[in-house]
Amino acid sequence: MDCLFCKIVAGEIPAEIVHTTERTVAFRDLNAQAPTHVLIVPKDHYANAAELAAGDPVASAELVTTAAAVATAEGYDDYRLVFNTGAGAGQSVFHTHLHLLAGRPFGWPPG
Ligand code: IMP
Repeated sequence: MDCLFCKIVAGEIPAEIVHTTERTVAFRDLNAQAPTHVLIVPKDHYANAAELAAGDPVASAELVTTAAAVATAEGYDDYRLVFNTGAGAGQSVFHTHLHLLAGRPFGWPPG
């Protein structure tokens, strides 16, 4: 399968990895939208958050606990977590990833 984030997990494409756990890898987004913008991905391939939650609920929870650990490590109590699901909602990479954004104010509703 030709999947960008599988290649990052496998170490075939470079990324600035900030945290790893048994089931997840966290790395900085190439096009950061906040002072901290980290993507947390499962090591195994699932297309989106719902498929991951159904197929591996432990890994699904670990995305969130990893995001919280990264936020804490970078000094933030306030942060935003986002799963874009489907191209119409802004998903461009079809390997589940949780966006962690922190370090600036966030508006609501999101754009
Ligand atoms: P999506 O639009 O929710 O699917 O998010 C995909 C994210 O992956 C975007 O924020 C991109 O900036 C980011 N991205 C794409 N390629 C890379 C890469 O090679 N390294 C790190 N982040 C990437």
